[in-house]
Amino acid sequence: MKVLKFGGTSIGTPAQIRTALDIIADSASKGRIAVVVSALSGVTDRLIEMANRAAAKDMTYLDLLDRLEARHIKYAQTLIGKENRETAINDLRSLIKELKNLLRGVSLLRHLTPKTLDRILSIGERLSVIIISHSLKSGHIAAEALDARRIIVTDETFGAARVKLDKTYSSIRACFRACSALQVVTGYIAASVNGNTTTLGRSGSDYTAALIGAALNATAIEIWTDVNGVLSADPRKVPEAFTLPYLTYEEAREMSQFGAKVIFPPALRPAIDRNIPILIRNTFQPDSRGTIINNHPQSKKSTVMGFSSLNGITLIRVKGNGMPDGVGIMGRLFHILAKEKINPLFISLAPGDHAVRFAVKTEETQKARAVVEKEFALEIQANMMETIKAENNLSIIAVVGRNMSRLPAISGRVFNALGRNGIKIVAATQGSSERNISIVVNQKDETKAVRSLHDAFFSRT
Ligand code: ADP
Ligand code: ASP
Ligand code: MG
Repeated sequence: MKVLKFGGTSIGTPAQIRTALDIIADSASKGRIAVVVSALSGVTDRLIEMANRAAAKDMTYLDLLDRLEARHIKYAQTLIGKENRETAINDLRSLIKELKNLLRGVSLLRHLTPKTLDRILSIGERLSVIIISHSLKSGHIAAEALDARRIIVTDETFGAARVKLDKTYSSIRACFRACSALQVVTGYIAASVNGNTTTLGRSGSDYTAALIGAALNATAIEIWTDVNGVLSADPRKVPEAFTLPYLTYEEAREMSQFGAKVIFPPALRPAIDRNIPILIRNTFQPDSRGTIINNHPQSKKSTVMGFSSLNGITLIRVKGNGMPDGVGIMGRLFHILAKEKINPLFISLAPGDHAVRFAVKTEETQKARAVVEKEFALEIQANMMETIKAENNLSIIAVVGRNMSRLPAISGRVFNALGRNGIKIVAATQGSSERNISIVVNQKDETKAVRSLHDAFFSRT
């Protein structure tokens, strides 16, 4: 059994969908498979836009809705044979009606809750599975649409729900045991124990595929997308980036946590737990081998493998005024951040200076700052600690490699490359593992920094 997941980038036009259908048909002819699909390309963004317009009582959300409906119906007419077309179009129309009602409610109340937004977003994937499953049927493949709200169970953190693994695995198994047709599953969406619709976070369809793969003990989880695998850098920033044929789960995690969108970081966990390889493949170049992610490092040699970057970063500084108990302060700081579920993306300690700097996504700044200020209110009042400072408009660049601490020259080369290209280093740290060196730069320098590093390490001239 294999799981194949097709992202929005693989299903952006009817011609692209045909290519994806050929890949599915070929795989299905070789053994049992399950298919996971995202919403058609751009649809999740459009749904968010519609919901925001409705909440602002901007009635042009109705125009967007009409366009969304027309696009799906056109795709159905182009791809689905006569015998299934009417049923499919009726199903699409009834979902559009559900969406219209939800948006009308938002516009009447002038209010959009995360819970309602998740219900609205669920429509994207529910629409796309109708098109894909009926198109497969038209190609004589017994396929069925499966709404993942029946099999993936989460808490109620709307927008980024946490999966209840045991319940999820047992309902996936029960569901697949009971069916023989090829299941075309909605990525990204799930339901809480109370039956409310939730979503797994943007790009969450990869996670859906990994959960199904783990539950069914698949031989592989194939992520079909629009690039030839995990590349040495984001190809939109570094056109020379090349495919990495093999990565370990940990290396893939470092790349993806710091911005390589090609795989959603939580998707690695279920695969690691069951030791299932993840293959990243290009829908539009199915003959290229892509990237294989598993737990076998190809070599122990110290190497830099690639570069990732994340923008919209804020650096928060907590600094004592020569207080004696620096260690206690750090302990309290990290404890309170963990308790409030704030996950620093970067930490740099300057014990001599009694200072810590940590990075968060800019949208988390207010929360992080409030949490720290509350924890250290007495110290700040007693002037034992400086007021908390936050610096915005930053990016983190991650240099991802293996056994990097064995080769101190790597850091030197990194700093040299940035210095030579006039890029100011705001902060830097050798990550907690040997797989990561993180550098904070001004956001305006991000692309130049990644290019300079890629060039310094990989240029053949
Ligand atoms: P999908 O719709 O298939 O899920 P995504 O847009 O989520 O596709 O992910 C694929 C995109 O990830 C690529 O088009 C590429 O621009 C981007 N990307 C960023 N960094 C990397 C990287 N290091 N390797 C490959 N792709 C990357
Ligand atoms: N459709 C969702 C998104 O755009 C989930 C996914 O593509 O994986 O984020
Ligand atoms: Mg994706």
